Amino acid sequence: MAGFKFKTFKKTMDKNAPSLKRFLNKLSKNRPKDLHQVAAVKDQQVWGEIDCLACANCCRTMSPTFTSKDIKRIANHMNISEKHFKEKWLLKDDEGDWVNKIQPCQFLNLDDNKCSIYEVRPKDCSGFPHHHKKPMMEYVHVYKQNVTFCPATYKFVEKIKEHYSAKS
Ligand code: SF4
Ligand code: SF4
Repeated sequence: MAGFKFKTFKKTMDKNAPSLKRFLNKLSKNRPKDLHQVAAVKDQQVWGEIDCLACANCCRTMSPTFTSKDIKRIANHMNISEKHFKEKWLLKDDEGDWVNKIQPCQFLNLDDNKCSIYEVRPKDCSGFPHHHKKPMMEYVHVYKQNVTFCPATYKFVEKIKEHYSAKS
């Protein structure tokens, strides 16, 4: 992703997202039998093209949810109490999940887009953008949202769309 600029790519995502969302709608109504195999191949291809360190849009604009295990692990790593960690950094959202008070995430190093707690980061972060989830169709709502936020998901869905368009 040499010379990648998120702002420029965002324009492409916004322009093409409606067609990718329509494709995802169709896919959820008529799931191809080989979808999981195709998705695994396309996901691998995506990571040959995308460098998250050139992007970090997820860490800049979204908050992960922090499970109790995440909070315990990260607070231990920081040598502070879980209570202190929650008071300092987190709040409960409308669904009752612990999320960041601020964005960009307090653990993102804005100079190089690296996560300062990478080894102990929340499970939500290590699993993002959730391309491996099964059954995949249960995550269509996530992909529909992320085609305008995450270049990796945009490319993932675009490649799956191209694959099935070429076959039809
Ligand atoms: S996961 Fe997506 S939004 Fe996050 S840094 Fe990678 S490409 Fe960007
Ligand atoms: S904890 Fe790390 S990976 Fe997760 S949002 Fe914050 S900076 Fe990004």
